Amino acid sequence: MGESAVELPLFDLARGLDVVRSEAVATFDRLLGSGEFILGPDLDEFEYLFAEFCGAEHCVGVSDGSAALQLGLIALGVEPGADVLTVPNTFVATVEAIAAAGCHPRLVDVDPTHRCMDPAQLSAVLDRDTGAVVPVHLFGRLAPMTEISPICASAGVPVLEDAAQAHGAMAVGRRAGSWGDAAAFSFYPTKNLGAVGDGGAIVCRASTTADAVRSLRHHGSLPGQPNCHVRRGTTARLDNLQAALLSLRLARLDEDNDERRRAAEIYRDLLEGLPLILPERESPDEAQVYHLFVVEVADRDYVLRRLRHAGIGAGVHYPTPIHLQPAWRHLGYRRGDFPVAEHLAEHCLSLPCFPGITEDEQVRVADVLAEALR
Ligand SMILES: *Cc1c(COP(=O)(O)O)cnc(C)c1O
Repeated sequence: MGESAVELPLFDLARGLDVVRSEAVATFDRLLGSGEFILGPDLDEFEYLFAEFCGAEHCVGVSDGSAALQLGLIALGVEPGADVLTVPNTFVATVEAIAAAGCHPRLVDVDPTHRCMDPAQLSAVLDRDTGAVVPVHLFGRLAPMTEISPICASAGVPVLEDAAQAHGAMAVGRRAGSWGDAAAFSFYPTKNLGAVGDGGAIVCRASTTADAVRSLRHHGSLPGQPNCHVRRGTTARLDNLQAALLSLRLARLDEDNDERRRAAEIYRDLLEGLPLILPERESPDEAQVYHLFVVEVADRDYVLRRLRHAGIGAGVHYPTPIHLQPAWRHLGYRRGDFPVAEHLAEHCLSLPCFPGITEDEQVRVADVLAEALR
């Protein structure tokens, strides 16, 4: 590939797993002998620990982040056919889940500084047809929930946080997952809290919501009554092996997020003075968790090629906003409808930023960037 011998990936999953490897192997060994793979005590324990971590009342483990969003909307009682408001610069799963819940995705542009849902535009489009609002905590920074929550509360519209990129992110002492009526998390391997396969969870405030998700994930059955199906459900459980591993990794999540923040500070120092836009610094009562460290550059595709040629795993999240994706053309939007999201799609560039990245590696990234931007 590139001229450089050592490849630096965007995410280094092996490095993250090494620190729990021996504990994970012992846990897997125990579980393989127990025969408890589905809905067992390891899942219960993880659910308890993750709810506590988020500052939420309940947690229900599900198969992945997309299922968490879909089942979350259904459990909150959002009617099929209702509009669900979200943003155009997100992973496609957000709108897929809205559609899978039988709802209609309606988009609201983001703010150019924090890159999350713009509360003023949310106010402008929220109306009688709105069944729910799904703010996305993009790149590990909370959407402006201190503004979004009161807007939704006064309209009587439930909020489902898409917290797939924000495990542990905080504002005014409250973590992702503690703001909405419910929040959806993904434990896809590259997320801040990652499984070794697919995984997800819903955390929520009301026990009725948690009960509904427990039933939905397990064929609409009732606890202790596997053959009584009270609603149309599906198969969407988080398995015990993943849950046990996630409990191990959860114990280190704050430390891992501290490492990401440290790496982000190093990038800020190294990249200062270059012709690029850094992620906005959060206010003192906020803590972002840098799922991705995303800069904006003028000639993005050229800079991306230069980084990749040098063996650096830079990425783009996301090159095409939802409203310009072929599969979502029927939503009826056009180029120009969401100028901020479109601008970000053209200019954003994600740099390697993960627990365990070394300062030398970051210097290498900064040097190649400086060359490319010269
Ligand atoms: C990863 C992700 C999802 C979906 O999670 P899966 O576990 O892959 O289904 C949803 N929304 C956002 C913003 C994500 O980053």
